[in-house]
Order: sequence, then structure tokens, then C-alpha cells
Amino acid sequence: MKKLIRIYFMIFVPLAILSSCKLNNHDEELVEVHQNIILLIGDGMGLSELSAAFYYGNTEPNFARFNEIGFVNTSSAKHKITDSSAGATAFACGEKTYNGAVGLNADSIAIPNMVEVLSDIGYFTGIISTSSVTHATPACFYAHVESRAMQDEIAKQLVDSDIDFFAGGGTNYFINRADSINLYPQLEKNGFLINQDIESIVPDENKKYGFLLAEDGMPTMLENRGNFLPDYTKFALDYFTKSGASFFLMVEGSQIDWAGHDNNAEYLIAEVLDFDKTVGLAMDYAELIGNTLVIVLADHETGGFTLATNDGDYSTIKPTFASNGHSTTLIPVLAYGPGAEKFKGIYQNNEIFNKILEIAK
Ligand code: MG
Ligand code: ZN
Repeated sequence: MKKLIRIYFMIFVPLAILSSCKLNNHDEELVEVHQNIILLIGDGMGLSELSAAFYYGNTEPNFARFNEIGFVNTSSAKHKITDSSAGATAFACGEKTYNGAVGLNADSIAIPNMVEVLSDIGYFTGIISTSSVTHATPACFYAHVESRAMQDEIAKQLVDSDIDFFAGGGTNYFINRADSINLYPQLEKNGFLINQDIESIVPDENKKYGFLLAEDGMPTMLENRGNFLPDYTKFALDYFTKSGASFFLMVEGSQIDWAGHDNNAEYLIAEVLDFDKTVGLAMDYAELIGNTLVIVLADHETGGFTLATNDGDYSTIKPTFASNGHSTTLIPVLAYGPGAEKFKGIYQNNEIFNKILEIAK
């Protein structure tokens, strides 16, 4: 199914972009062109974290390019305050679950995720993360395990998943595992090229790509991670575009959350600015190519971060944290592209799943 759609789209999608969302192959068949979906998750990025891009960046943030804005309530099934795996399961699978669950509902039953649903209708799919690719947030888009701590098992499930593209850290869970199994040969058998040099290659739509660039999480921005997030997002978009298929890409700025846990404002601001830069790339793509929905949101806020005055001095912002854990403040959702208006309003985090699928299908 996927192959057929792909071949068809390679030939006809450029036409479709120029004309409309339906196209005629001049015979008898009408084929619908699906919308591309780029979902950008700033882990731990509440309103104050997002606002930091407006006060600490050198230019107007890319966040300011969105007009369709909503808010989500992020509570998990059993707690008012969510962790990242329950938060991402809500987006990826459409149900609120218990903290720690990856792709399971509150009764610990595996439920279909967005990658599975969209792959079945011919989408190419990918994940990019500044944590390990097996960390809670990305894992919820392809794996089903009862605890986010099971990263060795999550890695195995990634190898056999429908994912066509992944990039982030996490070699520990593929080649330095408790069971001593090396997962690279199986990845290669499944069509993946591992750790190619994106500077020197042109993406090949007949291959899949895996990039594991750190033992666990990627370096921080303060440690000179550089342009990893925007560069690999761009490479993924080039790859998907070349495939001619519709695509779903999840991009996570994982370490906004880690900076919040550390109560480190400098680290947090650097991670937010890197994420915003990546949002800009997604927006440039959507504006240029069309039929692409871009959604920016977070699983929860981390740290009770504020940008208040320094004891009433209106000329000085004093970034401050109230906690080293997560908070339950409502989370902004920014949307651009076909169907973006569906993301306005105040609603539950798990409603994101159906809103995306209504537009994708
Ligand atoms: Mg995360
Ligand atoms: Zn966290």
C-alpha cells in the first residue's frame, strides 16, 4: 500500500501542489493528497518559556508567525500534573494515561499511535529529538511499554516500527545494551542507513535513515550542540519531499525540560531559542510548499518558570523557578496551515490526536 502510494505521488505530487488537494491521473482514478504534518514539541515549554524567545533572542521569534492559538490542559489520567510519557501518549495515541506509560492506555493496554495509523495510509514518518530517540517523548510515537525506563525494549520496538527516519542520541540502547545484542544489523536489514554524513549526501527516498549521535541525550546548547536540531529537521524535510509521499514528522526540543528541572535559566533560554529556530524552518517549508500543517506545543511546563521583575524593578527581568518539577499550567498550542483553526480554544491534550488525524486523513 505504502509503496504504491509512494510511486504514484512521486509522479503527481508536484502537480497537486500547484493545483488543489485532489488530482486526476487522467484515467479513472481520483487520489487524495494528504496533508503533511510537522509536530514540534518543546518538552517543558510553558508560556513563560515560550515568552523567553521574545526577550532573549536577537530577532522576532518564529513563534510570532502563528495566528491560530489554543491552550491544552495537560493533566494525565491519574494525576493533575503529567510526566512526559503520559503527555506524549496523549498526543500520539489520543488517550490520557498514567504517568510513565508509553503508548498504553490507563488500563495498560497498547493503543495505536499516530505513526502506525498514518503509515497505514501511506505516510512517511520520522522523529527527531535532542534526548535519546528512545526517551519518553519520541518513544510514545512508535513504542508500547509499561514504563518509560525500558529504553532497551523501546529501542527494539523502534527497529521494527514503521518509522522511516530518526535522529537524536541513544547509542547506549542500540549497541551497549544489557542483553549485549547489537541492533545495528537489524536496522540495516530493515533498510536503514545509520549515521550518514548529512553534509555530503543527497537523501535517497528508497532508504530509511537513522542517526544516533550520542550515547544518551545529545549535548546541551551550552555545550555546543550547534545546529543539530534545525539541520536534521531540514535533512528530514528534504528526504520526505524527495519521497513524494505525505509525511508526519515529530521534532522535540527535549532539553527545555531538562533546563527547567535544573532551574538553569541560561540553559533554558538557549534551548528555547534553538527550538524556535527549528520552528522557523518548519514554517518556511509550510509557507513554500503548502499542504503542510505545523503545530507547536508542549507536553507540560517544567520548573514553574517566570519572567517577573527583580523585586518590582520594571526595567529588569529576573528569570525565576518555583520548583524543580513539572507544573500543570495550561500550555499554548500554535498552528499554521490547512486545518490550523481546529487548534483554537481550550481543550484536553489528548484531543490533539484526533484533530491531527481529521486533517491528515
Ligand atoms: Mg521529552
Ligand atoms: Zn521533565
